[in-house]
Amino acid sequence: MSTSDCLFCKIVSGEIPAEVVRETDTTVAFRDINPQAPTHVLVIPREHHPTAAALASADAGLLAAVLGEAHRVAVDEGVADTGYRVVFNTGAQAGQTVFHVHAHVLGGRGLNWPPG
Ligand code: 5GP
Repeated sequence: MSTSDCLFCKIVSGEIPAEVVRETDTTVAFRDINPQAPTHVLVIPREHHPTAAALASADAGLLAAVLGEAHRVAVDEGVADTGYRVVFNTGAQAGQTVFHVHAHVLGGRGLNWPPG
């Protein structure tokens, strides 16, 4: 997929609106449109990379920046002390539907293990 067809690139550019909760020079964090928990925020790099695996190969520092922002979101959302989950669905069989890498930050309720 080219970046011009990418939903999350359009959120980065502002072409598609989103409820942004944090921004840095390299990342954007916004609320999931279909939240699965009281806190459900997605953290993405501004640059288009399809999966966490692709980003790990291309720019491990940027992947670390995404993860760092995920934990800052948890603090801002007030779920850092009670517990939260950071998930990178990677590939179709793992449930990835948007192929612009994103960390899900989920919290505010009990989360079962193993996940479905
Ligand atoms: P995935 O299934 O790829 O791991 O996660 C994609 C996530 O993006 C889903 O949780 C879905 O609800 C969310 N999503 C899909 N389209 C939009 C959108 O237009 N805006 C926002 N904020 N989230 C979206």
